[in-house]
Amino acid sequence: MCSGRVDLEFILRAFSNGMDGVFIGGCRLNECNYITQGNYDALNMVLLCRKIMAHIGLNPERLSIEFMSSGEGIHFSEVVDGFCKKVKDLGPLGKGEKIDEDELKSKLEEVRNLIPYIKIVKRKKLASRLENKEEYDEFFTSDEVDRLFREVVSYHIDPDKCQACMMCFRKCPVKAIAGGKNLIHVIDQDICIKCGTCFEACPPRFGAVNKISGKPVPPPIPEEERIMVRKSKKM
Ligand code: SF4
Ligand code: SF4
Repeated sequence: MCSGRVDLEFILRAFSNGMDGVFIGGCRLNECNYITQGNYDALNMVLLCRKIMAHIGLNPERLSIEFMSSGEGIHFSEVVDGFCKKVKDLGPLGKGEKIDEDELKSKLEEVRNLIPYIKIVKRKKLASRLENKEEYDEFFTSDEVDRLFREVVSYHIDPDKCQACMMCFRKCPVKAIAGGKNLIHVIDQDICIKCGTCFEACPPRFGAVNKISGKPVPPPIPEEERIMVRKSKKM
């Protein structure tokens, strides 16, 4: 019902499913029926998504957002006709950009996996409301989005420091941490959404969770090496 409900995931899923263009229609800015002003959220998300599309080689013109009232039927049909024509001119998704189909699929998949991370890193900007269109033109820059992908952060538990206190295990929102009593904890990188909760949750006296950027994450230690032998029990 509200354009604010259109998630970044919905758009990227549409492209992953082979849609050549995505059009979002929202109520006029500052005319939202609710205090949430969800159409600003939609606008910010579209601006970010368009930069992400350019980053992976897709023409950002394939994504459009327009604001209008329900009484503007003629305007709506003109805008949609214009968008359809533009998308037809661009050609099928990927082919128009000369990107190999498999490469495009894997690029879209890579971005979709990072959606929770992107939303966390860009949450302040995604919730902003700017006053005029000019301010929005360069709201998200290409450099900023390139950096976002270049400096993706991963989290890793140092097996030599983990004390199996289970704080991170209990707080991880997606159950990406394997652990338990007297077990060195391990993050499953395929499930981790890079929210940073474990980094915050690990008591400073242990400091076992590391933030890693720009280099590979060490492989998880084998299961048979995860059992902890406490000093008191060693004696
Ligand atoms: S970064 Fe977030 S999702 Fe990943 S393991 Fe830590 S708490 Fe779980
Ligand atoms: S919070 Fe830190 S010490 Fe405790 S289980 Fe997690 S990584 Fe290990």
